[in-house]
Amino acid sequence: MSEEVTVTKRQVNEVIREALRDFPDAELIAFFCECGKERCYQTVWLTGPAYDEARAAPEWLALVHGHRAAEDLASALVSSAATTSKREYSGRTIVGAND
Ligand SMILES: [Zn+2]
Repeated sequence: MSEEVTVTKRQVNEVIREALRDFPDAELIAFFCECGKERCYQTVWLTGPAYDEARAAPEWLALVHGHRAAEDLASALVSSAATTSKREYSGRTIVGAND
């Protein structure tokens, strides 16, 4: 279920960010690519503030360059609504590049 993969990886990214809340702002942090591939564990390198700023946007996912959000993501919004914001999963924006 690729949409569940995206939701799970996003939750992991949130934990990573919270764990490194005191990290220096200029340091890059490795976040998981939030695409729908079950076996994708590639990294998207962002500073903490850049991640925070991007996540404030409603249609944002951290994606390795060339990776795509799950096509059935919209249906995942309903099933994951109990733990995540539906609004946050309404679209996607590609950030970061990690060819
Ligand atoms: Zn990916």
